[in-house]
Amino acid sequence: MKIDRTVPVVHLHVGGEARAAGAGGSFEHVFPATGEIQGPVPLAGPADVDEAVQAAHAAFASWRAWKPAERRRVLVRLTELIRAQAAELGRLSVLDNGMPYGLAMHLAGSLAAWGEYYAGWADKIEGRVTSVPAQGRELAYTMPEPYGVVGIILTWNGPLISVGMKVMPALAAGNTVVIKPSELTPYTSEHLMRLVREAGIPDGVVNLVLGGPDAGEALVRHPLVEKVSFTGGPTTARKILAACAESLKPAVLELGGKSANLVFPDGDLDLLARVNTSSVFETLAGQGCAIPSRMLIHESVYDQVAEKVVARASGLRFGDPFDPSTNVGPVVTAAARDRILGTIDRARSGGAGKLLAGGGAPDGDLTGGGFYVEPTVFGDVDPASELGQVEVFGPVLSLMRFSTEDEAVAIANSTYYGLASYVYTRDIGRVNRLAARLRAGGVYVNGAPPVVGCELPFGGVGLSGFGREGGQEGLLEFVRTKAVAIA
Ligand code: NAD
Repeated sequence: MKIDRTVPVVHLHVGGEARAAGAGGSFEHVFPATGEIQGPVPLAGPADVDEAVQAAHAAFASWRAWKPAERRRVLVRLTELIRAQAAELGRLSVLDNGMPYGLAMHLAGSLAAWGEYYAGWADKIEGRVTSVPAQGRELAYTMPEPYGVVGIILTWNGPLISVGMKVMPALAAGNTVVIKPSELTPYTSEHLMRLVREAGIPDGVVNLVLGGPDAGEALVRHPLVEKVSFTGGPTTARKILAACAESLKPAVLELGGKSANLVFPDGDLDLLARVNTSSVFETLAGQGCAIPSRMLIHESVYDQVAEKVVARASGLRFGDPFDPSTNVGPVVTAAARDRILGTIDRARSGGAGKLLAGGGAPDGDLTGGGFYVEPTVFGDVDPASELGQVEVFGPVLSLMRFSTEDEAVAIANSTYYGLASYVYTRDIGRVNRLAARLRAGGVYVNGAPPVVGCELPFGGVGLSGFGREGGQEGLLEFVRTKAVAIA
């Protein structure tokens, strides 16, 4: 099948107006699979961000007053358009960040599923009448309210799914939003805003400003932004939280991870090798927040598992992300590739582990000038080393040995992160013990994926952030509770 590789003209979207230029200048977007420039992207400056927030603020009173069932209907309409346009959103996701086309299609479908789920909540947000207070004659109840304008800052690895996780619940709860995606993912954003308009969502309810750190900071600091929801790295999260602290603004932070996969001898080891290598190498070339990048293997099966993992990693195909036979796409930028290769080099020279597979960039003939990194496996990694502790955000898997369950838990819990933990065992008693002992926002057993569905909350502890996305918890992040008591 021949795939159209043209990209749309990108705009800033402020109060229903599509603007071809922004005060932050412009940026030449590069296709990570080839290194070719695809076109200019207008960047917002603080003045554009201010206007977007003003537009969201102006739209809030009326959007909030919409009948909840009407809000549900318009959000269902949006998700129907997203579903109908999944192929185009998938195509544009590939052109945004080079992710393999099959994954891109899957994520576009997931966005529709998240949208439907949260649209359904729009008319089911209820308060409660509490037990009668002191005098015995008062009526007391709670009233859930939207915050107002929510500032949503996204990273480049999965902006569509983040729209499902953040924008949909925020809108369902009656908030208006200003989204600041990464400038690296302009094309899905542009198409999404077309669908927002087509669905009949009023001007100003959803605003979108592409831009870098300056635009993000202007959004966080804006006095009319009542809440911030962020996906990205811990370093940026600290800056965002410091900016929020000035006006005591609440934030949801979905950050990185160094997730451990605990492998016991009674686990399905073939399934393990397939699922783990797929999520660390194939999904987004290792650029996923919840990937199981540390594999902790019981010593009795360590050699057997290492052999299976290395065989799979070495057999993966690089190439054009639009080609269905491609397993591993590019990483997002040349700078990301160089950063990942630097981490690999430091691990090799510092003796953090034994290199078992990969370790470099494939040569140019193989990949045609794109930003690729070989699937890389290190064995016997020192859990205390940089490689054992710090998120690489690239296709690098660290294998470690353990002999007892206690030791496995100690290694798993030894990083400051805590996004996901994975377990492979058929022993349900062990599963229950580990679910309680592992320090993580979620524990996923025998191949269950981390973002199983929109019904289950997802999020981290420690350096992986706080707040939850998904399920009722994800909706309640965008609602604050007012107490009413009537004598
Ligand atoms: P990043 O923190 O550099 O950037 C994320 C976003 O923040 C971008 O839109 C950027 O422009 C903006 N930004 C940068 N500086 C800012 C500032 N001072 N104020 C406001 N906004 C600012 O992250 P990245 O390198 O693009 O993404 C990688 C990180 O994201 C990894 O750590 C990864 O694990 C994490 N991530 C987490 C999840 C999750 O759901 N937990 C999902 C995907 C990615």
